[in-house]
Amino acid sequence: MIGIALLGATGSIGETAQRVVARHPERFRFAALTANGNRDGLAEAVARWAPAYVGLVDAKGAALPQGWGSGAQCLVDAAQHPDVHVVLNAVVGAAGLDATLAALTAGKRVALANKETLVIGGALVQRAARAHGGSVIPVDSEHSALLQCLAGRVGGSGEGLLPVQGVKRFIITASGGPFRTWDAERVQNASIAEALNHPTWAMGRKITIDSASLANKALEVIEAHVLFGVPYEKIEVVVHPQSIIHSMVEFEDGSVLAQMGVPSMELPVLYALTYPERLEDDGVPRFDPVKHPALTFEPVRHDVFPTLSLGIAAGKQGGAAPAVFNAANEAAVARVLDGSLMFARIPVAIERALAQLAGARGDDRDSLLAADAAARRIVQELA
Ligand code: NAD
Ligand code: MG
Repeated sequence: MIGIALLGATGSIGETAQRVVARHPERFRFAALTANGNRDGLAEAVARWAPAYVGLVDAKGAALPQGWGSGAQCLVDAAQHPDVHVVLNAVVGAAGLDATLAALTAGKRVALANKETLVIGGALVQRAARAHGGSVIPVDSEHSALLQCLAGRVGGSGEGLLPVQGVKRFIITASGGPFRTWDAERVQNASIAEALNHPTWAMGRKITIDSASLANKALEVIEAHVLFGVPYEKIEVVVHPQSIIHSMVEFEDGSVLAQMGVPSMELPVLYALTYPERLEDDGVPRFDPVKHPALTFEPVRHDVFPTLSLGIAAGKQGGAAPAVFNAANEAAVARVLDGSLMFARIPVAIERALAQLAGARGDDRDSLLAADAAARRIVQELA
């Protein structure tokens, strides 16, 4: 019986994880559950799963039920709980970093949806995993696809959390988001409602905005680099509007493998829990090729979506730059969602933070978090 700590139990991935685990009660149980502020949603999950540990990060000043943890520390306590074997990190944003590090320090497997962890702290995560024997298995659908295409070629020495051999190229697919066919001028005036209207995936609000700006794809390119140790020059992004092929790997002999399925996070969540094995599961939505007669591909329009290149450049630069990119993006998205910044200003905000913090240090957790905070302040002050 595998004990899971589900961090972010009330979110989109958190709910998917509850559906997946409900189908395999003989194999998995939730040993710890956390949420940010959704107390009712968390209480419902607790009544259903009876975990050994419960944490609500933001209790909003109200008294909590007996035994519940609170504050950011509850993520760390859940991640390190003795009944927990796998930490499913489904928190959104930089708030997920310390829980990943805590889980790895305790030698546990992290099933990682929280891609921001790897963008901010790639080197820290790698050090913690190497020093204590923990591992990171991606939940992100593109990286789950890469991992599945790489079957049998992961492991051994080399760069990355899951070092790979014999890769010529990663081809990461992107849906293109709601503005895929819009001209630049129309994107300049896009509203929040339009940015939240994703064509193929139902997800939390932050990642949905990231998908419209292509910030999500930038985070994913960095995530792929950190996970598999493949250099940025060998990672390409292609637009694939149907979201059926979740990514591809080209090997040294020119062979290309793709992983396919309908757009659903059920399989990536399940696979991160069972890797390297597979578990029979009739609840994962089935793929019928006849229902998808056309799979198409287009180049990214970098001129209309500059956020992608900004993120990849920050990844290549390394140091604090990826953390600055991520924090500036998080702060800009929060402002887009509260109505104080136009969607089209996201890349402007990121560019400004990257320029002003070009010399920021990023060699340990404290300097990375300082760069993160400075980037947020810069975006906050933007008119
Ligand atoms: P969501 O907004 O639906 O849920 C986020 C969860 O995290 C909630 O349970 C919330 O309570 C918790 N949370 C938010 N802020 C927190 C904080 N400061 N401290 C602790 N907990 C906090 O988001 P989501 O769509 O489920 O995405 C979660 C993560 O998974 C993100 O990193 C996202 O990029 C990644 N991801 C999501 C999808 C998807 O289909 N939704 C796909 C791939 C990757
Ligand atoms: Mg993804």
